[in-house]
Amino acid sequence: MLRAVAVLGLVLAACSSAREPHRVRKLPATDGLPALRVPGAKSPRIANYTIDAKLDPVHHTLLATQTLRWTNPGQSAVTHLPFHLYLNAFKNESSVFMRSSQGSFRDAEATASSWGWITIDSVQIDGAELAKTLRLPANAGADETVVELPLATPLAPGASIAIDFRYTAQLPEVFARTGYHGDFHLIGQWFPKIGVRTGPPGAEQWSCEPLHTFTEFFADFGTYDVTLSVPAAYVVAATGVLVAVQDQPGGTRTYTYKAEDVHDFAWMADPSMETTSGTAMVAGKPVAVRVLARPAQADFAKRHLAAAIGTIEKMSEWFVPYPWSTMTVIDPPPEAALGAGGMEYPTFVTTAGDSVFSRPGVRLPEYVTVHEVGHNWFQGILASNEPIEAWLDEGVNEWADAKVMAALYGPRGNAIDWMGWEADMFALRRAVAETPGTLPTPIAAAAYAFADETDYAEQTYGTPMLALRTLELTFGTTKFEAAMKTYATKHAFTHPTGRDLFAALEQGLGQELGWFIGPVFQHVGAARPAVRSAGCRHQHAPRGVFGSGAARTIVDDDDAPDTGSYACSVMVSNTGTIHVPLDIELEFADGSTERLHWDDRGHGSWQLFEVVRSSPLAEVHLDPDGKLLLAAPAELSYRVIGDGSASLRAGAWFSSGTQTLMQATGL
Ligand SMILES: [Zn+2]
Repeated sequence: MLRAVAVLGLVLAACSSAREPHRVRKLPATDGLPALRVPGAKSPRIANYTIDAKLDPVHHTLLATQTLRWTNPGQSAVTHLPFHLYLNAFKNESSVFMRSSQGSFRDAEATASSWGWITIDSVQIDGAELAKTLRLPANAGADETVVELPLATPLAPGASIAIDFRYTAQLPEVFARTGYHGDFHLIGQWFPKIGVRTGPPGAEQWSCEPLHTFTEFFADFGTYDVTLSVPAAYVVAATGVLVAVQDQPGGTRTYTYKAEDVHDFAWMADPSMETTSGTAMVAGKPVAVRVLARPAQADFAKRHLAAAIGTIEKMSEWFVPYPWSTMTVIDPPPEAALGAGGMEYPTFVTTAGDSVFSRPGVRLPEYVTVHEVGHNWFQGILASNEPIEAWLDEGVNEWADAKVMAALYGPRGNAIDWMGWEADMFALRRAVAETPGTLPTPIAAAAYAFADETDYAEQTYGTPMLALRTLELTFGTTKFEAAMKTYATKHAFTHPTGRDLFAALEQGLGQELGWFIGPVFQHVGAARPAVRSAGCRHQHAPRGVFGSGAARTIVDDDDAPDTGSYACSVMVSNTGTIHVPLDIELEFADGSTERLHWDDRGHGSWQLFEVVRSSPLAEVHLDPDGKLLLAAPAELSYRVIGDGSASLRAGAWFSSGTQTLMQATGL
């Protein structure tokens, strides 16, 4: 998901469309495509769902039956099965989610009349009714977002089981990814979803966290065969490919979707959406890409479509080829965008950013789409554990997104190119980031362990993005991109961890990276490079008294006159916790420059450089190419000659005009 959306949404509410009677839509064509672009299982398919759900869009309720076929993937027997019941996060103020969010999420508020919940009416194994045996986990307290089903007989390693459910759900008024707003229904995290077995072989445990305001999702790959029934006036879109659609007596229409090698399923129903379609080409085969938006947002739909196609093509080239046949982007109506926009599911994402400020060239809508579509790699294919390592999909994805923006919209003004202002996405992120080193929790922390939303958002999104970019620029883009491709290829359709990413980087970059990973990812802190002193003397041969006795000579100014050159010294220091090789540029009064390089790893935290030049030193620039993105930019320039005050403070590297614009757009 994209945190920036929170702030953006406030500009969206202006243009809600007038209500018109719903017309029954023409029966849509099926996709006529296999679920996978190249058929053949990509994953172990541990959790396989068949669901039949009926939406009542007036009361915003769901009635559903579901069969889950699950295989024990571990080497230890399983005695109970835990299921996420995410909709119970919105059931009452005692849920972990409502307590941790205080009823507010990304600036969207829970409303008093909009409680949401899910009730399991029946759960059966081999026809035996077990609903009465369902229990809350021992440490759940009053939270009902996880429920456990004890098994009468432990399920052996490798064995499979089928569980049949019947359930009723009330959708909340959307404010945290799922629910309705008027006629618009975005239905995510809506079905009982089994947890994941994690841990060393033979000692696996269930990973099935309650929903906390900062935690997202984690699930096993499998297949989904889902039939959705809605009134025929509604347009439906969902994860996977549409394989059948039929009108039923009574004005209902049923849509059947099939998805393979995905770990979630979400869908949308709305009477007013129109579809804008295009094609992405991946390894010579087409991926059907469509954006669903209401007519008032048609111009934005075209921008979202181009961004989605570009992201699929670039990320397929850079990481692993997009494996599925379709990609659906939902552009929620503005009044629902705060709650429903900016969220990712496999082959199905929601975007945002349609604002009066989002003129062509202010690529906020594009960026939200790039980010959400990008999640189809970083979490969709590389299915890391979001509650425990949120940075591993959000932060890595943000790094990749900024590169997609540069590839699609140019290296300089890819984020903003408007009225003479230009900003690329990395610079934009850096400009709006908290001062490095001021956040109290390291990047590598469980989502629920962060102090507050700023701490979580910065350390999960922006800081890891800038950390990866720093590594990329330090080692060179070609080498770094190759290492990331290896990581993606090796761990596709599994649950990689941060350790897997670091191992791939160490291998690809050809060195142990503890000097970087520890301070940057596992501890709090920043780099604090600074020019401690700098200055020049006139250069001449040594003067003074030399030798002794009869051989004693005195060398004075006449004997050793100034040569016309200058002996300059520069002392740099780093009092921070992060130490990265640093470039230093000396700029002399005659305009000439000289580059120095300070390794700054394991040699103490200062270094003295001395140079002789025909012109005195005017300025010192630390990190002149902007490779070290984990330091406060204000401290990187030092003026030797000039206005008397020693340091050149404040970000000359970024115009205040751009900052103003970013504040206006909320990024
Ligand atoms: Zn995200």
